[in-house]
Amino acid sequence: MDNYEILGQIGKGSFGLVQKIKRKSDGKVLVWKEMNYGRMSEREKQQLVAEVNIIRELKHPNIVRYYDRIIEKKDTKIYIIMEYCEGGDVGTLLKKCKKEKDYIAEDVIWKIFTQIILALNECHNRPQGKILHRDLKPANIFLDAQNNIKLGDFGLSRVMGEQSEFADTHVGTPYYMSPEQIQEKKYNEKSDIWSAGCLLYEMAALKPPFEATNHLSLAIKIKSGKFERLPLRYSEELQKLIESMVHIDPEKRPSVQNILELPQINLRLKERK
Ligand code: ADP
Ligand code: MG
Repeated sequence: MDNYEILGQIGKGSFGLVQKIKRKSDGKVLVWKEMNYGRMSEREKQQLVAEVNIIRELKHPNIVRYYDRIIEKKDTKIYIIMEYCEGGDVGTLLKKCKKEKDYIAEDVIWKIFTQIILALNECHNRPQGKILHRDLKPANIFLDAQNNIKLGDFGLSRVMGEQSEFADTHVGTPYYMSPEQIQEKKYNEKSDIWSAGCLLYEMAALKPPFEATNHLSLAIKIKSGKFERLPLRYSEELQKLIESMVHIDPEKRPSVQNILELPQINLRLKERK
């Protein structure tokens, strides 16, 4: 920990503070997220360490880069050191757009979505074994200084589960939960696709496809699989893609590879080169 200087607090995560730090050796600005593992069982702790080790292997321009972890036994905390995304998160961005009723241009939506799909492709199609995100939502998608999209906050939330220090304030409504998750069936990569579809919808409609004031009525809406069309300013292609991703049957949803082949995505991949 002596290798870093704390620059200030960025936010409060569900498991502890998120702080901006400076690596003393070269002055690089990073962040660390503290997580208190004090109330975890031995087994859960091992699982947490295993998850962190997996995340450390993910190296992709559209995935928040993890640099290191520090375990402080005396205060039962693990510090996860990662890339600083100075543009904040997409959740905050969407809140602002929502407030100002400022719809995002469709081209921008496709550009953001293309980067999310590239990140998911890296996770789902790794030769060393697939990694599922499990918690895709606007708050877990970050922007760097150049407005590049960075997918963050992998799987850890699942491992940490009940350990949350601020459980009541931080557990939001699970708007992007897939029908199979509601039915407690196995989470698979198509569940990530469902959530990515919900995210794509919310970027355009500025509201999630399924909304309710309590979990039960939300679950009923999700299981129906029916949602309103996007505002008319958005194309039929965008609408159709969302409908395919937010489909109650996981088998009917496209894979990341199918999505990469779509002209709207393929075109933007070529433009990037
Ligand atoms: P949790 O998901 O555990 O509740 P978050 O990841 O949402 O915690 O982090 C809390 C706050 O810190 C959020 O406002 C988020 O935007 C910010 N934050 C988290 N990671 C980073 C990062 N790598 N770069 C910049 N800000 C971050
Ligand atoms: Mg988060």
